[in-house]
Amino acid sequence: MATSDGRLTAVYDEVVARNPGEDEFHQAVREVLEDLGPVVGRHAAADVEVIRRLCEPERQVLFRVPWADDEGRPQLNRGFRVEFNSALGPYKGGLRFHPSVYLGIVKFLGFEQIFKNSLTGLPIGGAKGGSDFDPKGRSDAEVMRFCQSFMTELYRHLGEHTDVPAGDTGVGQREIGYLFGQYKRITNRYEAGVLTGKGLDWGGSRVRTEATGYGLVFFVEEVLRASSGSLDGTKVVVSGSGNVAVHAIEKVHQLGGRVIACSDSAGYVVDEDGIDLDLLREIKEQRRGRMSDYAEARGRSAQHVGDGSIWSVPCDVALPCATQNELDEAGAKQLVENGCRVVAEGANMPTTPDAIRLLRDAGVSFAPGKAANAGGVATSALEMQQNATRDTWTFEHTEQRLAEIMHSVHDRCLETAEEYGRPGDYVAGANIAGFLRVAEAMLALGLV
Ligand code: NDP
Repeated sequence: MATSDGRLTAVYDEVVARNPGEDEFHQAVREVLEDLGPVVGRHAAADVEVIRRLCEPERQVLFRVPWADDEGRPQLNRGFRVEFNSALGPYKGGLRFHPSVYLGIVKFLGFEQIFKNSLTGLPIGGAKGGSDFDPKGRSDAEVMRFCQSFMTELYRHLGEHTDVPAGDTGVGQREIGYLFGQYKRITNRYEAGVLTGKGLDWGGSRVRTEATGYGLVFFVEEVLRASSGSLDGTKVVVSGSGNVAVHAIEKVHQLGGRVIACSDSAGYVVDEDGIDLDLLREIKEQRRGRMSDYAEARGRSAQHVGDGSIWSVPCDVALPCATQNELDEAGAKQLVENGCRVVAEGANMPTTPDAIRLLRDAGVSFAPGKAANAGGVATSALEMQQNATRDTWTFEHTEQRLAEIMHSVHDRCLETAEEYGRPGDYVAGANIAGFLRVAEAMLALGLV
């Protein structure tokens, strides 16, 4: 591990030994610890024992999720909830339903969530959960039965003051609805604040659906502004075509930029006229179709590439919004060669450590997900605020709050990076600032 502090290396080695085979979790821990060297010894809260405790989840729940498919055949999945840290507030973080989910993925996401939530300045702890269930190709009735079985175990660990899940990959408003319905039925409580990402008529917040993508673009605007630039007229590439990607594309277009490529797991589309968002939405959200369907429907201006890297498409700004480790060293090299100036992560940990190093060395402004995609969870916290006061805010007011939060996350990262001798380094700024707020609270709460 690249730190001169042997005590941090020892913490990392212990994490690897205690969590064998959980590569993504090791990667996430390592990335944070490598930046804490200058803080240890300089700040009272940066105590190595606190850091050690921070790397161990407060609670990990693993459970069986049996359910019946439409033919009545029994199916079996595994459910997870890692309640990582509650020093700043109730556990908060999404649920992911995807076949790749295992404990190492949930722990990496939960660990990242601690720092992200801390950076927002809001009173929320860090957690993550999910299942290896694949909603793709399943009927609504199957998804409902799965969600009901999942919640039948998970409900006992949740509560508006205890643990508040939200959506993530594979968990949208449909799944949140089924989960909330089952929670309400089992507990006989209309406890709206127990889940976020709800529909507007049943306790949801305006802007929550858009928040991660919009927040990402607000963050990018600040990055560009810091070097006297703006989004106006920029060419942008966005990977993915799910919730985060679609709303990032929408906000880029609203602010005068042009998104010329986006993707799914079967390839990418280049559309030099700019992605047609209405068409993309119709294909993805209504028809549950693929990017190849988009290219076919769009006609001549769009080209679908099934085999290749979206990062080979020349752009000024690249926004990886699909999945972890999707932007590797080769992709980063192509971005640099093509003159890309800003890379900001909409997804969680989409850029590999080698790629991050290459981008930083080449002078590309790199915004890590724990800062740049914090808008989703920040708006979830705003949803909790509205639920607690039984109030609903307007779209404009909520979006304004989101924009203010993203601006302050940006400034906190830059100021902290400057203070610790790493000017312009958003990764170090995010890791140190996120860490210090949690560590101070942990110290104040004693050995718990
Ligand atoms: P969705 O499930 O809505 O979308 C994921 C998208 O990524 C889909 O278009 C999917 O395509 C695509 N994808 C998956 N794997 C690959 C791949 N290997 N190459 C190219 N595309 C791929 O998820 P979200 O948009 O909600 O989340 C995306 C990322 O953002 C995740 O890392 C998530 O943790 C993170 N995030 C999400 C937040 C939110 O509020 N939703 C908040 C903060 C972070 P396909 O349909 O083919 O699978």
